[in-house]
Parts: sequence; structure tokens; C-alpha cells
Amino acid sequence: MFILVTYFCPHGAHAPDSRCSSCKVTGYCSREHQPSDWASHKTICNDIKCSRAKMEKVERKLRTLPGNSASSLGNPFETSFGHFGSTVCTRPYMVARITYAVQLLSSNSHDAAAIALEISRGSLDLCRRDLLGARSAMPNLYLRLGQDQKCYDFIKGWEDMSVPFLNSENEDIMEGVSMFCGRRLIAPYSLAVALIKVRMLLDLREVRASSVLLGVDKINVDILQHIRENMDLRSSICDKIETLEHQTDQLFAAIHKANKYLWRAIVGPGDSLPLMDWEGNVEVAAVLSLSDGKCWEETNGAFRWIQKKL
Ligand SMILES: [Zn+2]
Ligand SMILES: [Zn+2]
Repeated sequence: MFILVTYFCPHGAHAPDSRCSSCKVTGYCSREHQPSDWASHKTICNDIKCSRAKMEKVERKLRTLPGNSASSLGNPFETSFGHFGSTVCTRPYMVARITYAVQLLSSNSHDAAAIALEISRGSLDLCRRDLLGARSAMPNLYLRLGQDQKCYDFIKGWEDMSVPFLNSENEDIMEGVSMFCGRRLIAPYSLAVALIKVRMLLDLREVRASSVLLGVDKINVDILQHIRENMDLRSSICDKIETLEHQTDQLFAAIHKANKYLWRAIVGPGDSLPLMDWEGNVEVAAVLSLSDGKCWEETNGAFRWIQKKL
């Protein structure tokens, strides 16, 4: 996908090729740039490092729990897998995992998003009932990493009882959006589906524009067949664009109806928002836009798409 914003070293216009050895996620393009960023990176770095150490410490403790009494069944990774959070001894560990994931996201890097996604996904495996709400953060993370199909499969695995739980694959991204509108609208999911479709729409518009630019001045018999094939491709691209325009309009309107502050909060998270609740709840709009707005911000053209509609 060509529309995702790339991360640059905080002190240079280059993609990072080395990481901070302490937090292991913030990237720099050269060794010289790391010390000059330290003053602003120090706090985040320390928070990430400490939360990871805490999680690892609690995990070690759990793995060595003796299984010799009624109150302790031993290592819960063997005895309670899938049911973490339901037993008292596993709760601090689940909290430590979520805390680590949240801290990671204060570092603005793909590596941090990738680890946070892995941690969240692992938390869901440990606790299928998702007692700590790991799953609502996941669509945003998949999208930040450009994993749109996996994101859609994940959402369908939760939303649609007819597809396999957490194992759905290759769900049809072009399908209708009614299940993400109306009464069953769940903000992180509907927003994610909207972005998946907006990205496709923006991509296809680019393709359509560049196929126009191919021009007709070089037509000869040899490429006539090629052009015919492109004509077919072009009409199918136009159909898809039309479908996506309709679907994204539907999602925009449904999300706006559920919370009229949310789109504004995404494009302008700094704006002060009056406090109200989801179904009009502005506090929720602010929290959501902080986490779910990131993938919109990182998609070239997505803010323009929202602003045109507002
Ligand atoms: Zn660091
Ligand atoms: Zn640099």
C-alpha cells in the first residue's frame, strides 16, 4: 500500500535503521541522533522499559507457582490458558500486559505498534472473554501496520457470528457495511472499517487517474489487446470506486449520527471538546480519537476525506 506515512528519525528525514537499546522500539537513522533526542525521549523510554520489566517479572512468578493446594493450581499458562483474568492470581499479569501495550503506544513508531498488537493479541488468547478490553485497541493497530485484510478478518471474527471466532480469513472487504451502521455500531470497529474502505477508495482513484494519464498517442496494433484489457479493468475499477464511495458515505453518516463530535475529534484532537457521552458523549470521542485517530492521521489523504465531509 502506498498511502501509509513512513516514520522518520526524530532528528532527520530518514527512515530509522537502529533502535534505542533501552526501550527497543524508538528508531534512529544514526547513532549520533539518539543522544540529541534523549531529553524528550527519556520519560517515554523509561516508562516502556519499566512496564516491560514489570510484565516479565509477574510472568516469571506465575510460571513458577506451586500447584500444591486448593488455592493454587500451579502454572496458569498450563492450567488456565484462555481463562486468565478470571482467577485472582492472573489479574495483575493481565493488567501488566495492558499497561505495557499502552506505554508502547506513547512511542510513535511502527515497531511499538507491532509489539503492542502482539501483546494485545496474546492477551485475547490468554483471556477469551477480553475482560480488560484488549480487542478494542486492535483494529487501530492492524491499520497502523498496513494489515487491512487482517484487521477486517479480526473485526468480522468478533462481529459476525457466522464466521469462525478469531480465525476468520479473507473476508470480503468489498461487502456491504450495514452490519457496521445503525444500532450495532461499535465505534472502534466502524471507524476501522471506514478507514479500510477509504484507503481502498483513495488507492483506486489513484489507479484510475494514472490509467487516464497513460494516453492514447502511442496506440499500435501490438498494444491494442492490452488496451482492451485495461478498458475492462478500468470499468471494474470505476464500479468499485462507485461502490466504495457509497459505502464510505454510509459509514461516515452512521458514525456521525452516533456521535457528532467524533470525526471532528479525529482531525483536530487538540480542539477542546464539551463533555458528553457516546451517543453524544464527547469524553469518549476524545479518548477514541487519541487512539483510533492515529491510523487516520498516518494515512495520506484520509484527513482530507473527513474534512470534505464535515
Ligand atoms: Zn528508548
Ligand atoms: Zn536521525
